Amino acid sequence: MSSNDTLERVERIAAGVVAEHAVRLDKEGSFPTEAVRALGEAGLLGLLSSKDVGGMGLGPREAAFVVERVARECASTAMVLCMHYAATAVIEKLGPEPVRRAIAAGEHLSTLAFSEPGSRSQFWAPLGTATLTAAGRVRLDARKSWVTSAHAAQSYVWSSKPLAGAEASTLWLVPNPTAGIRVTDPFDGLGLRANDSSPVVAEDATVGTDAMLGEDGGGFSTMLEIVLPYFNVLSSACSVGLMETATARTAAHASAIGFQHTGTTIADLPTVRAYIARMRTKTDMARTLWLDTIDAMEKGRADAVLRVLETKAAAGETSVEVVDLAMRVCGGAAYRKDVGVERLFRDARASQVMGPTTDVLYDFIGKAVCNMPVF
Ligand SMILES: Cc1cc2nc3c(=O)[nH]c(=O)nc-3n(C[C@H](O)[C@H](O)[C@H](O)COP(=O)(O)OP(=O)(O)OC[C@H]3O[C@@H](n4cnc5c(N)ncnc54)[C@H](O)[C@@H]3O)c2cc1C
Repeated sequence: MSSNDTLERVERIAAGVVAEHAVRLDKEGSFPTEAVRALGEAGLLGLLSSKDVGGMGLGPREAAFVVERVARECASTAMVLCMHYAATAVIEKLGPEPVRRAIAAGEHLSTLAFSEPGSRSQFWAPLGTATLTAAGRVRLDARKSWVTSAHAAQSYVWSSKPLAGAEASTLWLVPNPTAGIRVTDPFDGLGLRANDSSPVVAEDATVGTDAMLGEDGGGFSTMLEIVLPYFNVLSSACSVGLMETATARTAAHASAIGFQHTGTTIADLPTVRAYIARMRTKTDMARTLWLDTIDAMEKGRADAVLRVLETKAAAGETSVEVVDLAMRVCGGAAYRKDVGVERLFRDARASQVMGPTTDVLYDFIGKAVCNMPVF
């Protein structure tokens, strides 16, 4: 499967089923079931799965392009895919073969269940526990504050304190459903309304010891080495896709409408053209850093970690600036949802507060630049 084939497949799905349902899903706050099914049938849920288990055997570049294309139509669907790819990168390396095969076959959606109310956005320090039972199983107890695809996912990549030792965390592959695990509330968000980012509670839930992903206490290094690069690059892909659509819709709106009494368009105003120029420039700056981050990861460049930290902060913050400009240029029509930028304005904001949040990333980047230990 080549990159071109992948892009053709995602183009068909993004322009078709994703675009068709995006407005309704946002309005209802309902999950993109049709799009996830189509992505699975096209093999795209198994994009990161190795060919040995029937997957596409592709990497972060192709995953990022798929997420970016989907985000141009529906950021909620793109974030579902972002969480799935971040989770499946872990499962592909550390998970059991039957689940890897199910993912490759497009029959298994996964997600990350990291954030908790106790450690909040500092997801690397879970307070939820894992305890060995007398029966030799593992009991999980936790409150997870947001889990994207909480109802629809077939599994959660779940963080807890380790069974033993002083390390920060251990990761588990928790099937959904599992007795003792329940989604407590529906998600009624400001933005990304269609990604079912609901709280999940585990009370006396048990899994086998073989549900452990990697070593006991090895969660932090898996988060750092696998989850962080994938999540940051794919979250940036969401932001870049959103900005592309905001810029295109704003330019189209400004060129199409105008003042009958003067016979001029909104785009005839130099102020407006300067705003649109800023949108295009900011989008291209974020895109360029995002592509360079993928390049740094692929080549194992010395600056790869710095780039991974920078790209999410840059794309997330820039996307908020770009959608703010879209709302300004498109005027009152944007508030009425006529132009289709208001949903982007709401969706873009989540990136600032999704862990690692922009402010945490700035702290890490600042430490790196000042030659201080980052983590
Ligand atoms: C739509 C959506 C989907 C999500 N999906 C998932 C998911 O699938 N899985 C998952 O595990 N989580 C998910 N999350 C949770 C997300 O990753 C964050 O954990 C969550 O948004 C943090 O919210 P909070 O209120 O706990 O933030 P808080 O931690 O209370 O943060 C408040 C402010 O403090 C700042 N802050 C915190 N620590 C520092 C620091 N060290 N330095 C500087 N500033 C700091 C933050 O940047 C923020 O501005 C999702 C969140 C949203 C909004």
